[in-house]
Amino acid sequence: MSDPLPVRIRERARKDALRALLLVLGRDVACAACGRPLFRVLPIVWRGQLRLIGATEPVRAAFGARDTLEFRHVELDHCPAPERPWVR
Ligand SMILES: [Zn+2]
Repeated sequence: MSDPLPVRIRERARKDALRALLLVLGRDVACAACGRPLFRVLPIVWRGQLRLIGATEPVRAAFGARDTLEFRHVELDHCPAPERPWVR
């Protein structure tokens, strides 16, 4: 059974607000390995954590340099590389 109408309206309003926020303030994040887009997020640093508001899939995060945080696909079936010629 689906949620009652007021709950669906509230969820829809929240999704629309997030979409508008990301459209204006969001940044496109691409995979550091293959360059394909991962998602559009609003990055916020808060209490020692980097929050990616709007992230839609899990990513692998690692420092590329002292001041550079890189994001990569977790699911390698979506990440083409020379060692994975079956990924298109
Ligand atoms: Zn990738």
